[in-house]
Amino acid sequence: ALYCGIVGLPNVGKSTLFNALTRAKIAAENYPFCTIDPNVGVVPVPDLRIDKLAEIVKPERTLPTTIEFVDIAGLVAGASKGEGLGNKFLANIRETDAIAHVVRCFHDENVVHVAGKVDPISDIETINTELALADMASVERALLRVSKMAKSGSKDDVAKKSVLERVLKQLEAGEPARGLNLDADEKALIKDLCLMTIKPTMYIANVQDDGFDNNPLLDKVVALAAKENARVVPICAAIEAEIALLEENERKEFLDDLGLAEPGLNRVVRAGYELLDLATYFTAGVKEVRAWTIPVGASAPQAAGVIHSDFEKGFIRAEVISYQDFVTYKGEQGAKDAGKWRLEGKDYVVKDGDVVHFRFNV
Ligand code: GDP
Repeated sequence: ALYCGIVGLPNVGKSTLFNALTRAKIAAENYPFCTIDPNVGVVPVPDLRIDKLAEIVKPERTLPTTIEFVDIAGLVAGASKGEGLGNKFLANIRETDAIAHVVRCFHDENVVHVAGKVDPISDIETINTELALADMASVERALLRVSKMAKSGSKDDVAKKSVLERVLKQLEAGEPARGLNLDADEKALIKDLCLMTIKPTMYIANVQDDGFDNNPLLDKVVALAAKENARVVPICAAIEAEIALLEENERKEFLDDLGLAEPGLNRVVRAGYELLDLATYFTAGVKEVRAWTIPVGASAPQAAGVIHSDFEKGFIRAEVISYQDFVTYKGEQGAKDAGKWRLEGKDYVVKDGDVVHFRFNV
């Protein structure tokens, strides 16, 4: 599975957000393969398309797909030098696939700020500096190793050395490695370093309940993120925590009162999903309508492998109807009659929203 790590300074609302995310508790028995770790939250991905498909298919049950968030507490200034269990926390961040960086944009006298005042830009810089310093140390070590080898000179070593030098220059200029926009081959050469500043990153601006508009602190975060080509998701973690505690019907009422169609948490989940470059396909049978997660660009056999490895090994063909066609023509038969049912082979790249039935040998 791919993980989105929640990072940020202490007291910015990480745990509040994480708890709200995981309180929507997905029945664990449906996900026997997930390890249950208190810092790892398996979070259902809200997707209205499931309900639409269910209206047509009328299955016994529906099942959303999930995304995993990891609560990485305890990052402080000096972490890259080992301050405050720094190495342990950095190691946890290295293992994630994307970063949700929570930034405090709310005022509350009762909540101590580690740096003494609410200043999201300075907070972001503090964290990003630690990540960059730690990355720099990794790159320097790798450069030493590869310099020795590059003398004898395999083609890969030479190429790796050149990528590492570019990354080092970038980091020394105070820019994250992701700003280099390395291509897939270049990334593969330095994948073993698990650089943190190369990971896709979004900022979660934790604002007051009335802090979504005319909020200079939020505006600053948005401006900084724009320069990095990063996304900002504004949210009020305290309210989300309250909403998450409510029963289904109370929740609807509460959201209606606030004039919201859905909890803000949904935006965090979707943004995380996009950050991880994931796509969803569906299986739609009378037993179950279910959403499945694949990396964007996955082939049909790879998509089949998400259901079961035997499906991938024994893959023959995929029967595919796009989501839109499935809805427009009210199901499989209608789509077939309209000529919208396709039989695809092993090179087919599964699209987000495809409704798929796999044919395979066992
Ligand atoms: P963490 O250290 O980043 O995990 O921060 P916590 O989630 O533990 O939050 C620290 C404190 O800030 C707690 O007392 C929270 O109740 C409070 N807090 C979190 N989010 C908000 C918010 O949106 N508004 C206000 N006023 N307080 C918040």
